[in-house]
Formats: sequence, structure tokens, C-alpha cells
Amino acid sequence: MQEKHISEAEWEVMRVVWTTHPITSKDIGAVLEDKRQWKLATTKTLLGRLVKKGMLKTESRGRQFDYYPAISEESSVKEAADALLSQVCTKKVGSTIKMMMEDSVLSQSDLSELEQLIKEKKKTAPTEVACNCTPGQCSCRH
Ligand SMILES: [Zn+2]
Repeated sequence: MQEKHISEAEWEVMRVVWTTHPITSKDIGAVLEDKRQWKLATTKTLLGRLVKKGMLKTESRGRQFDYYPAISEESSVKEAADALLSQVCTKKVGSTIKMMMEDSVLSQSDLSELEQLIKEKKKTAPTEVACNCTPGQCSCRH
């Protein structure tokens, strides 16, 4: 996928459009005015940016514009998670995921799925993960 950084404010807009589409800027604005006290102009600015980035598609309907997501919520969340994990040394990915799990409220079924995944991964996991960092950006090769 193309590199598409979505700001925290843009995520707020995307979540509304992922939940309901097609949707007009006015209806998106109403949700975000409630949650964030944003003026409609703020939402419209964010919508314009998201269309430019290719995250949203728009179609005119009379004097209104309908907005649709151009990318699914699932793939956007995956991209954001991949981007985060690509910023740490491969040796630290495990402890980063552990930290995320410690800070998360997980249901019994979430935990069962994770348990299953861990069981699967254990079959082929290396004893140690190799570091792929640029020298000077981590100290694990010393
Ligand atoms: Zn490293």
C-alpha cells in the first residue's frame, strides 16, 4: 500500500465515514461537533485533505456531496499498526506487542484467538529474532 499518514483528526473523520456511507459533510460534521466541538468548516477542511490523499471518494448529489471510504477500516488499521512496528528494532517488536496487550482490555474470545495464534506461531518461531537496524539506531549488535 502507498504511504498514507492519517492524522489523529483525520482518523476521527474516517471513523464516521467507515461507520456510515454514503454520508454528507453535514452529517459527518454533526457527529464531530458533538464529539470534538468542531465547526463544520474544520470537518470540511479534513474532508478535502482525505479526498486528496485518496482515502475518501466523493460524488455530487445535487448541491450536496456524498462521501465514501476509498480504503477499508481494516486495511487502514493494519497499515497504521505496521507503520508503528516498523519504527522499532525487530528485536523489540515482541516486547512492544506485549506492552500493547498489557494496556488493552481483551475479551475471553480475543484471548482465545491470541492463544491460538501464539500456538501456531510457536511451531515455526526462530530462537532469536535478527536485528535489521541501521548501525547507530540501536545497540543490539554490540
Ligand atoms: Zn536493532
